[in-house]
Amino acid sequence: MKSKVYASVIVDIANSEVDKIFDYRVPDALAHLTAGCRVLVPFGVRDIEGYIIGLKERSDYDNSKIKDIKAALDPYPVILPEMLRLMEFMTARYHLKTVDALRLFIPSEMRKGRVKELFQTFVYINPEYESFDGDTLLKGAGQRAVFAFLQAEKRAQQSFVNKNFSAAALKNLKEKGIVLTESVGAMRRPASEADESHDIDIVLTDKQRAAVSAVTDAGGYSRFLLHGVTGSGKTEVYMNCISAAVKKGRTAIMLVPEISLTPQVFRVFRRRFGDKVAILHSGLSAGERFDEWRRLYGGEAVIAIGARSAIFAPLQNLGLIIIDEEHDGSYISESNPRYFTHEVAAARAKDSGCPLLLGSATPSIDSYCETETGEITLLELPDRINKRRLPDMRILDMRTEVRRGNPGIFSAELLRALHECIEQGNQAMIFINRRGHSSFVSCRACGYVAKCASCDVSLVYHRDDETLKCHYCGASYSMLTECPECGDEHIRYGNVGTQRVETELKTMFPKAGILRMDNDTTRTKDAHLKILGKFLRREAQILIGTQMIAKGHDFPFVTLVGLMDADLSLHFSDYRAAERTFQLVTQVAGRAGRDTQEGKVILQTYSPKHYVYRFAAAGDYTGFYKKESSIRLATKFPPYSKVLRVLYSAEKESDIGECLKPAYERVKELAEQNRAAFAFLNCMRSPVKRIQDKFRFQILARIMGQDLDKIIDSIYNIVDGTLTNKEVMCFVEINPQNLN
Ligand code: ADP
Ligand code: ZN
Repeated sequence: MKSKVYASVIVDIANSEVDKIFDYRVPDALAHLTAGCRVLVPFGVRDIEGYIIGLKERSDYDNSKIKDIKAALDPYPVILPEMLRLMEFMTARYHLKTVDALRLFIPSEMRKGRVKELFQTFVYINPEYESFDGDTLLKGAGQRAVFAFLQAEKRAQQSFVNKNFSAAALKNLKEKGIVLTESVGAMRRPASEADESHDIDIVLTDKQRAAVSAVTDAGGYSRFLLHGVTGSGKTEVYMNCISAAVKKGRTAIMLVPEISLTPQVFRVFRRRFGDKVAILHSGLSAGERFDEWRRLYGGEAVIAIGARSAIFAPLQNLGLIIIDEEHDGSYISESNPRYFTHEVAAARAKDSGCPLLLGSATPSIDSYCETETGEITLLELPDRINKRRLPDMRILDMRTEVRRGNPGIFSAELLRALHECIEQGNQAMIFINRRGHSSFVSCRACGYVAKCASCDVSLVYHRDDETLKCHYCGASYSMLTECPECGDEHIRYGNVGTQRVETELKTMFPKAGILRMDNDTTRTKDAHLKILGKFLRREAQILIGTQMIAKGHDFPFVTLVGLMDADLSLHFSDYRAAERTFQLVTQVAGRAGRDTQEGKVILQTYSPKHYVYRFAAAGDYTGFYKKESSIRLATKFPPYSKVLRVLYSAEKESDIGECLKPAYERVKELAEQNRAAFAFLNCMRSPVKRIQDKFRFQILARIMGQDLDKIIDSIYNIVDGTLTNKEVMCFVEINPQNLN
């Protein structure tokens, strides 16, 4: 007798309003079905696609109303057992709805509720008929054309033949047994040997070798942090670790920030690993993504490289996970489903019994702190390959520029250096820090600042079409000519923007080619690759950009990097402001002098004495870490606590109150019972009071101590339990990047 005859099936996952999990009966004919299988189930008047997320002996529903699963859609579960376990981890830890979590594990191509073939079917001529001229058996021009095509091609995708020849003819040939089919990916293939012919003869330095050995000898789950300055050969370490895992017949995932997924990176990894690597980047169409997913699922590709979501790559027998540029903010998912990639990666590595390797030139304070407590093993590459010097950094006091009568946005020294750089035939990058700041519009006479009528945030001036835009809702307003409050005509356009820098540089350097890379110029697909390509081919001498240009690009002719206004992120209201600024400055500086020529960095600031700049200029990460972590300890901020925000929004304030008040009461009770654990607790309007006509309120807390995770879980439960009004949107954020 079968014991598990009911399946929990999740359906209609494109619509995530409710967690739609239903019970279905598993008919005897489908007894082989397991959790993770894609099935066809009757739903209302139609049959729709669903995923089995669990099997059970009993159902709580009225037995007479439970319907049978109609059919299995694939011969294998599309969600691997390890992925189901990871999904369980995530739904429990972040209190995600199953539908939202499921989205991460299934390619969007499969989620549209229409049945899509998981595997590709290939057709080829039955060997018995290969050398047969076949006039008697081949009927009509259609069949003869298909036959001739397959004779020449040996093998072709069935869908290609159907599209380009007669589908009926192909069907006929299959029925006669002249053409055979093969479903690729249907058989799980063990990972094949790495193709050694592609290995490049780089001899690892002793320190690189030590790092590789530490990771490959780990023999199970453990975490490592590779701290190496830019150009110290971290990528080489990653590739050797991956290669070692693949040689053992295991698979690997490497995560990088999306912005670092450049053609240069593709080339390096393709050259080393060929078709064994699947690269998942935002430039792929949904169909292409699905193809890469299938190659990974089928075992054709055994290495997945991609941004944050590549942590969900359908790989079995995982032998290594790498998170490059581990300090990067993009590893925190700040929209639904919210999760922290480091935690998910650690859970997956633990489940697979493999190492997790974090790497960075400027590790996050959080991760580095864990190397002090011994939870993470520190590996170091303190020198650049070939002992190239780090660029010389000049900290330029802009206050003295103003005193000297230079009211412009460029210091005299930066302009001098630019002239020299261009004259010598080199290239320069001008970096404009835009983090969290906007070029706001204000009145010099009365201090009025232009804000969005429905969002209560400053509007941003756009020169292109002389408009003011709200970056939170997209509303557009015409540019002010006079102040609506006092009537004065002295309107100031806040901070320096990329466009202003471009315009001024074009006037000052009329002969130089100047490129600009920011959100405006990279809206279309591949636009940023085109700009970077031009710069790499030296079709321009100056590249102006936001933090987009800060990472991962290797331009051998860049000898000068200018930072226009490093202070902006320093004064951003975020406990990580100093950390982020240190990372930005170090990373931007790393762009200068990558090749044989020495680099120069000029940093313009109004706070030249700030410790961030002092340590960054000296290339002293550990000095910075000590200073910063002592401040965090004193102020009870992460890593010595967690910042938790419960954000509520709704059109009516009273609706919010209905949910927020009882929640806050209960969180206060919790705090009473755990006084030492709460470094801070309050309830208030959010700094941005309204977005898209919705009011925003929040519970803000800082929680510390041993029971931290348990307390956070209790808060999730309180919030879930008190969210009684459907008009209210609410979510919990842990260590959010911005507290607008
Ligand atoms: P990182 O990732 O730390 O910035 P990379 O791994 O990209 O550094 O290395 C910088 C450069 O040095 C690359 O061009 C790389 O090919 C080269 N390189 C790395 N390791 C070695 C080595 N052991 N010997 C020679 N060149 C190396
Ligand atoms: Zn708005």
